[in-house]
Amino acid sequence: IRDVLTIGETMVIFQSNQIGSLENTTSIFPKIGGAESNFAIGLARLGETVEWISKLGNDSFGSLILKRIKGEGVITNNTIFSDEGPTGLLFKEQITPDQLNVYYYRKNSAASFMSKELLDNISFENFKFLHVTGITPALSKSCYELTMQAIKLAKQNNVKIIFDPNIRFKLWSKERAFQVLHEIALLSDYILIGEEEAIFLTNLTDRLAMCKSLYSQSNKVIVLKCGADGAYVFNGQLHHVPGFPVKTIVDPVGAGDAFDAGFTHGLLQGKELIECARIGNAMGALVIQQYGDIEGLPTSDVLYRFLENRIETDV
Ligand code: ATP
Repeated sequence: IRDVLTIGETMVIFQSNQIGSLENTTSIFPKIGGAESNFAIGLARLGETVEWISKLGNDSFGSLILKRIKGEGVITNNTIFSDEGPTGLLFKEQITPDQLNVYYYRKNSAASFMSKELLDNISFENFKFLHVTGITPALSKSCYELTMQAIKLAKQNNVKIIFDPNIRFKLWSKERAFQVLHEIALLSDYILIGEEEAIFLTNLTDRLAMCKSLYSQSNKVIVLKCGADGAYVFNGQLHHVPGFPVKTIVDPVGAGDAFDAGFTHGLLQGKELIECARIGNAMGALVIQQYGDIEGLPTSDVLYRFLENRIETDV
Protein backbone atom coordinates (compact mmCIF):
# COMPACT_ATOMS: atom_id res chain seq x y z
CA ILE A 1 0.00 0.00 0.00
CA ARG A 2 1.28 3.42 -0.99
CA ASP A 3 -0.14 6.62 0.34
CA VAL A 4 0.34 9.24 -2.33
CA LEU A 5 1.05 9.38 -6.06
CA THR A 6 2.33 12.46 -7.88
CA ILE A 7 3.44 13.02 -11.48
CA GLY A 8 5.60 15.81 -12.81
CA GLU A 9 8.75 17.32 -14.25
CA THR A 10 11.80 17.98 -12.10
CA MET A 11 14.58 20.19 -13.35
CA VAL A 12 18.17 20.74 -12.34
CA ILE A 13 18.34 24.26 -10.92
CA PHE A 14 21.61 26.09 -11.40
CA GLN A 15 22.26 28.89 -9.01
CA SER A 16 25.29 31.02 -8.28
CA ASN A 17 26.33 31.90 -4.77
CA GLN A 18 27.26 35.36 -6.01
CA ILE A 19 24.87 38.26 -6.45
CA GLY A 20 24.83 39.73 -9.94
CA SER A 21 24.51 38.77 -13.57
CA LEU A 22 25.27 35.15 -14.49
CA GLU A 23 27.47 36.69 -17.15
CA ASN A 24 30.02 37.37 -14.43
CA THR A 25 29.63 34.39 -12.15
CA THR A 26 32.62 32.22 -11.47
CA SER A 27 30.72 29.57 -9.57
CA ILE A 28 27.41 27.90 -10.23
CA PHE A 29 26.04 24.84 -8.53
CA PRO A 30 23.22 22.37 -9.17
CA LYS A 31 20.14 21.75 -7.07
CA ILE A 32 16.89 20.12 -8.07
CA GLY A 33 13.34 21.43 -8.08
CA GLY A 34 9.89 20.63 -9.37
CA ALA A 35 6.60 21.23 -7.56
CA GLU A 36 5.64 17.55 -7.54
CA SER A 37 9.01 16.21 -6.39
CA ASN A 38 9.28 19.00 -3.79
CA PHE A 39 5.93 17.82 -2.46
CA ALA A 40 6.99 14.15 -2.59
CA ILE A 41 10.25 14.87 -0.75
CA GLY A 42 8.30 16.83 1.86
CA LEU A 43 6.08 13.82 2.52
CA ALA A 44 8.93 11.30 2.45
CA ARG A 45 10.88 13.29 5.06
CA LEU A 46 7.78 13.08 7.27
CA GLY A 47 7.82 9.31 6.89
CA GLU A 48 4.96 8.91 4.39
CA THR A 49 5.03 6.47 1.47
CA VAL A 50 4.95 8.49 -1.73
CA GLU A 51 5.61 7.68 -5.37
CA TRP A 52 6.79 10.22 -7.96
CA ILE A 53 6.47 9.45 -11.66
CA SER A 54 8.39 11.29 -14.34
CA LYS A 55 10.41 11.03 -17.53
CA LEU A 56 14.04 12.10 -17.32
CA GLY A 57 16.53 12.75 -20.11
CA ASN A 58 19.16 10.12 -20.69
CA ASP A 59 21.86 12.45 -19.40
CA SER A 60 23.84 13.28 -16.27
CA PHE A 61 21.16 15.73 -15.12
CA GLY A 62 18.52 13.00 -15.25
CA SER A 63 20.60 10.64 -13.15
CA LEU A 64 21.43 13.45 -10.69
CA ILE A 65 17.70 14.08 -10.21
CA LEU A 66 16.81 10.42 -9.85
CA LYS A 67 19.58 9.81 -7.30
CA ARG A 68 18.57 12.76 -5.15
CA ILE A 69 14.85 11.98 -5.15
CA LYS A 70 15.43 8.27 -4.56
CA GLY A 71 17.86 9.20 -1.81
CA GLU A 72 15.04 11.03 -0.04
CA GLY A 73 13.07 7.79 0.15
CA VAL A 74 10.55 8.64 -2.57
CA ILE A 75 9.45 5.63 -4.66
CA THR A 76 10.62 6.07 -8.26
CA ASN A 77 9.98 2.61 -9.78
CA ASN A 78 7.86 3.99 -12.61
CA THR A 79 10.09 6.95 -13.45
CA ILE A 80 11.91 6.29 -16.70
CA PHE A 81 14.81 7.66 -18.75
CA SER A 82 14.04 8.61 -22.31
CA ASP A 83 15.92 9.71 -25.45
CA GLU A 84 12.99 11.84 -26.62
CA GLY A 85 14.52 14.98 -25.11
CA PRO A 86 17.01 16.24 -22.52
CA THR A 87 16.36 16.77 -18.81
CA GLY A 88 14.89 20.23 -18.22
CA LEU A 89 17.15 22.89 -16.68
CA LEU A 90 16.52 26.15 -14.88
CA PHE A 91 18.96 28.94 -14.11
CA LYS A 92 18.38 31.38 -11.28
CA GLU A 93 20.08 34.75 -11.53
CA GLN A 94 20.01 36.86 -8.40
CA ILE A 95 20.65 40.27 -9.98
CA THR A 96 20.24 42.11 -6.67
CA PRO A 97 19.06 40.74 -3.30
CA ASP A 98 15.52 41.70 -4.35
CA GLN A 99 15.56 40.92 -8.06
CA LEU A 100 15.58 37.36 -9.31
CA ASN A 101 15.58 36.31 -12.96
CA VAL A 102 14.64 32.75 -13.87
CA TYR A 103 15.60 31.15 -17.19
CA TYR A 104 13.91 27.90 -18.18
CA TYR A 105 15.42 25.40 -20.62
CA ARG A 106 12.56 22.94 -20.52
CA LYS A 107 10.81 23.17 -23.89
CA ASN A 108 10.78 19.71 -25.51
CA SER A 109 12.41 18.22 -22.43
CA ALA A 110 12.09 14.49 -21.82
CA ALA A 111 9.34 15.19 -19.28
CA SER A 112 7.28 17.07 -21.85
CA PHE A 113 7.00 13.71 -23.66
CA MET A 114 5.32 12.06 -20.66
CA SER A 115 2.11 10.33 -21.74
CA LYS A 116 -0.58 8.16 -20.23
CA GLU A 117 1.41 4.96 -20.92
CA LEU A 118 3.43 5.94 -17.83
CA LEU A 119 0.44 4.78 -15.79
CA ASP A 120 0.32 1.29 -17.31
CA ASN A 121 1.95 -0.37 -14.31
CA ILE A 122 0.29 1.70 -11.60
CA SER A 123 -2.33 0.05 -9.40
CA PHE A 124 -4.46 2.97 -8.32
CA GLU A 125 -6.29 0.89 -5.74
CA ASN A 126 -3.06 0.92 -3.72
CA PHE A 127 -3.10 4.69 -3.24
CA LYS A 128 -5.05 6.98 -0.92
CA PHE A 129 -4.31 10.29 -2.63
CA LEU A 130 -3.38 11.52 -6.10
CA HIS A 131 -1.59 14.89 -6.08
CA VAL A 132 -2.17 16.91 -9.25
CA THR A 133 -0.59 20.23 -10.19
CA GLY A 134 -1.43 22.62 -12.98
CA ILE A 135 2.15 22.35 -14.24
CA THR A 136 2.04 18.83 -15.71
CA PRO A 137 -1.02 19.45 -17.94
CA ALA A 138 0.64 22.64 -19.21
CA LEU A 139 3.76 20.87 -20.49
CA SER A 140 2.27 19.33 -23.66
CA LYS A 141 -0.84 17.68 -25.08
CA SER A 142 0.34 14.21 -24.04
CA CYS A 143 1.05 15.52 -20.51
CA TYR A 144 -2.46 16.97 -20.35
CA GLU A 145 -3.87 13.57 -21.41
CA LEU A 146 -1.70 11.86 -18.80
CA THR A 147 -3.06 14.17 -16.09
CA MET A 148 -6.67 13.57 -17.07
CA GLN A 149 -6.13 9.80 -17.29
CA ALA A 150 -4.58 9.77 -13.80
CA ILE A 151 -7.59 11.69 -12.47
CA LYS A 152 -9.99 9.28 -14.18
CA LEU A 153 -8.23 6.19 -12.77
CA ALA A 154 -8.08 7.81 -9.32
CA LYS A 155 -11.82 8.47 -9.38
CA GLN A 156 -12.56 4.89 -10.48
CA ASN A 157 -10.53 3.62 -7.51
CA ASN A 158 -11.83 6.04 -4.90
CA VAL A 159 -8.43 7.75 -4.63
CA LYS A 160 -8.91 11.33 -3.38
CA ILE A 161 -7.52 14.09 -5.57
CA ILE A 162 -5.44 16.89 -4.08
CA PHE A 163 -5.01 19.73 -6.57
CA ASP A 164 -2.61 22.67 -6.49
CA PRO A 165 -3.03 24.84 -9.61
CA ASN A 166 0.60 26.10 -9.45
CA ILE A 167 -0.09 28.44 -12.34
CA ARG A 168 2.85 28.96 -14.71
CA PHE A 169 1.94 31.54 -17.35
CA LYS A 170 5.23 30.88 -19.14
CA LEU A 171 3.91 27.44 -20.08
CA TRP A 172 0.51 28.21 -21.58
CA SER A 173 -1.91 30.99 -22.48
CA LYS A 174 -4.18 32.53 -19.83
CA GLU A 175 -7.25 31.25 -21.68
CA ARG A 176 -6.02 27.65 -21.83
CA ALA A 177 -4.80 27.75 -18.21
CA PHE A 178 -8.17 29.07 -17.05
CA GLN A 179 -10.06 26.37 -18.93
CA VAL A 180 -7.94 23.38 -17.90
CA LEU A 181 -7.46 24.44 -14.28
CA HIS A 182 -11.23 24.77 -13.89
CA GLU A 183 -11.71 21.37 -15.50
CA ILE A 184 -9.36 19.80 -12.94
CA ALA A 185 -10.70 21.83 -10.00
CA LEU A 186 -14.19 20.47 -10.64
CA LEU A 187 -12.86 16.91 -10.33
CA SER A 188 -10.74 17.52 -7.22
CA ASP A 189 -11.52 16.68 -3.60
CA TYR A 190 -9.02 19.12 -2.04
CA ILE A 191 -7.99 22.34 -3.80
CA LEU A 192 -4.88 23.86 -2.22
CA ILE A 193 -4.53 27.20 -3.94
CA GLY A 194 -2.49 30.38 -3.56
CA GLU A 195 -4.51 33.56 -3.11
CA GLU A 196 -3.30 35.13 -6.38
CA GLU A 197 -4.25 31.97 -8.24
CA ALA A 198 -7.72 31.99 -6.70
CA ILE A 199 -8.16 35.59 -7.84
CA PHE A 200 -7.23 34.54 -11.39
CA LEU A 201 -9.54 31.53 -11.42
CA THR A 202 -12.57 33.22 -9.86
CA ASN A 203 -12.23 36.88 -10.91
CA LEU A 204 -13.04 37.70 -7.28
CA THR A 205 -10.93 39.14 -4.47
CA ASP A 206 -12.98 38.48 -1.34
CA ARG A 207 -11.65 35.35 0.39
CA LEU A 208 -15.04 33.90 1.32
CA ALA A 209 -16.46 34.62 -2.13
CA MET A 210 -13.44 32.98 -3.80
CA CYS A 211 -13.79 29.84 -1.68
CA LYS A 212 -17.53 29.65 -2.33
CA SER A 213 -16.93 30.03 -6.05
CA LEU A 214 -14.46 27.10 -6.13
CA TYR A 215 -16.65 24.96 -3.85
CA SER A 216 -18.54 23.19 -6.60
CA GLN A 217 -19.72 20.22 -4.54
CA SER A 218 -20.57 19.71 -0.92
CA ASN A 219 -17.78 17.33 0.09
CA LYS A 220 -14.99 19.40 -1.47
CA VAL A 221 -12.41 21.25 0.63
CA ILE A 222 -10.85 24.53 -0.49
CA VAL A 223 -7.66 25.73 1.17
CA LEU A 224 -6.54 29.24 0.36
CA LYS A 225 -2.83 29.81 1.02
CA CYS A 226 -2.26 33.40 2.08
CA GLY A 227 1.48 33.78 2.77
CA ALA A 228 2.27 35.30 6.18
CA ASP A 229 -1.46 35.33 6.93
CA GLY A 230 -1.48 31.52 6.94
CA ALA A 231 -4.39 29.71 5.33
CA TYR A 232 -8.17 29.66 5.06
CA VAL A 233 -10.02 26.35 5.06
CA PHE A 234 -13.47 26.23 3.49
CA ASN A 235 -15.70 23.17 3.77
CA GLY A 236 -19.01 24.99 3.69
CA GLN A 237 -17.77 27.37 6.37
CA LEU A 238 -14.67 29.54 6.36
CA HIS A 239 -11.99 28.97 9.02
CA HIS A 240 -8.84 31.08 9.33
CA VAL A 241 -5.72 29.18 10.38
CA PRO A 242 -3.05 31.78 11.27
CA GLY A 243 0.49 31.40 9.93
CA PHE A 244 3.63 31.17 12.06
CA PRO A 245 5.67 34.34 12.37
CA VAL A 246 8.95 34.24 10.47
CA LYS A 247 11.67 36.78 11.31
CA THR A 248 13.78 36.52 8.19
CA ILE A 249 12.56 35.13 4.90
CA VAL A 250 15.59 33.74 3.12
CA ASP A 251 13.88 32.28 0.03
CA PRO A 252 10.08 32.24 -0.41
CA VAL A 253 10.12 29.60 -3.18
CA GLY A 254 8.73 26.21 -2.23
CA ALA A 255 6.39 27.41 0.53
CA GLY A 256 3.31 26.31 -1.37
CA ASP A 257 4.66 22.82 -2.08
CA ALA A 258 5.76 22.45 1.52
CA PHE A 259 2.32 23.52 2.71
CA ASP A 260 0.75 20.87 0.46
CA ALA A 261 3.04 18.16 1.86
CA GLY A 262 2.21 19.16 5.45
CA PHE A 263 -1.52 19.32 4.76
CA THR A 264 -1.47 15.89 3.08
CA HIS A 265 0.58 14.44 5.95
CA GLY A 266 -2.15 15.69 8.29
CA LEU A 267 -4.84 13.98 6.20
CA LEU A 268 -2.86 10.72 6.18
CA GLN A 269 -2.53 10.93 9.95
CA GLY A 270 -6.29 11.38 10.29
CA LYS A 271 -6.08 14.94 11.66
CA GLU A 272 -8.90 17.48 11.46
CA LEU A 273 -8.77 19.91 8.53
CA ILE A 274 -7.78 22.86 10.72
CA GLU A 275 -4.85 20.90 12.15
CA CYS A 276 -3.85 19.80 8.62
CA ALA A 277 -3.68 23.47 7.63
CA ARG A 278 -1.70 24.32 10.78
CA ILE A 279 0.84 21.65 9.84
CA GLY A 280 0.89 23.08 6.31
CA ASN A 281 1.56 26.56 7.72
CA ALA A 282 4.44 25.21 9.81
CA MET A 283 5.97 23.52 6.77
CA GLY A 284 5.71 26.73 4.72
CA ALA A 285 7.25 28.77 7.54
CA LEU A 286 10.17 26.33 7.88
CA VAL A 287 10.96 26.17 4.16
CA ILE A 288 11.20 29.93 3.59
CA GLN A 289 13.91 30.18 6.25
CA GLN A 290 16.36 28.30 4.04
CA TYR A 291 17.66 28.66 0.48
CA GLY A 292 16.23 26.28 -2.09
CA ASP A 293 12.89 24.60 -2.72
CA ILE A 294 13.51 21.51 -0.60
CA GLU A 295 16.41 22.22 1.73
CA GLY A 296 14.19 23.49 4.56
CA LEU A 297 11.68 20.63 4.44
CA PRO A 298 11.74 19.18 7.97
CA THR A 299 11.81 15.64 9.27
CA SER A 300 8.86 14.85 11.52
CA ASP A 301 11.03 15.42 14.62
CA VAL A 302 11.81 18.97 13.57
CA LEU A 303 8.23 19.61 12.45
CA TYR A 304 6.63 18.45 15.69
CA ARG A 305 9.13 20.32 17.86
CA PHE A 306 8.31 23.46 15.86
CA LEU A 307 4.56 22.87 16.24
CA GLU A 308 4.83 22.27 19.96
CA ASN A 309 7.14 25.13 20.84
CA ARG A 310 6.08 27.62 18.20
CA ILE A 311 9.70 28.68 17.97
CA GLU A 312 10.49 30.82 14.99
CA THR A 313 13.69 29.22 13.79
CA ASP A 314 14.53 25.67 14.62
CA VAL A 315 16.51 24.21 11.78
P1 ATP B 1 4.38 29.38 -3.88
O1 ATP B 1 4.81 30.75 -4.27
O2 ATP B 1 5.47 28.59 -3.21
O3 ATP B 1 3.64 28.61 -4.95
P2 ATP B 1 1.77 29.79 -2.71
O4 ATP B 1 1.34 31.05 -3.35
O5 ATP B 1 1.13 28.52 -3.12
O6 ATP B 1 3.35 29.61 -2.71
P3 ATP B 1 1.98 31.01 -0.11
O7 ATP B 1 0.72 31.48 0.45
O8 ATP B 1 2.97 32.01 -0.58
O9 ATP B 1 1.59 29.91 -1.17
O10 ATP B 1 2.75 30.13 0.97
C1 ATP B 1 2.28 28.87 1.38
C2 ATP B 1 2.23 28.81 2.88
O11 ATP B 1 3.55 29.01 3.42
C3 ATP B 1 1.35 29.87 3.51
O12 ATP B 1 0.01 29.45 3.53
C4 ATP B 1 1.98 29.96 4.90
O13 ATP B 1 1.55 28.91 5.71
C5 ATP B 1 3.46 29.77 4.61
N1 ATP B 1 4.10 31.08 4.40
C6 ATP B 1 4.37 31.68 3.23
N2 ATP B 1 4.93 32.90 3.43
C7 ATP B 1 5.00 33.08 4.77
C8 ATP B 1 5.48 34.14 5.63
N3 ATP B 1 5.98 35.27 5.13
N4 ATP B 1 5.40 33.96 6.96
C9 ATP B 1 4.90 32.82 7.49
N5 ATP B 1 4.42 31.80 6.75
C10 ATP B 1 4.48 31.91 5.40
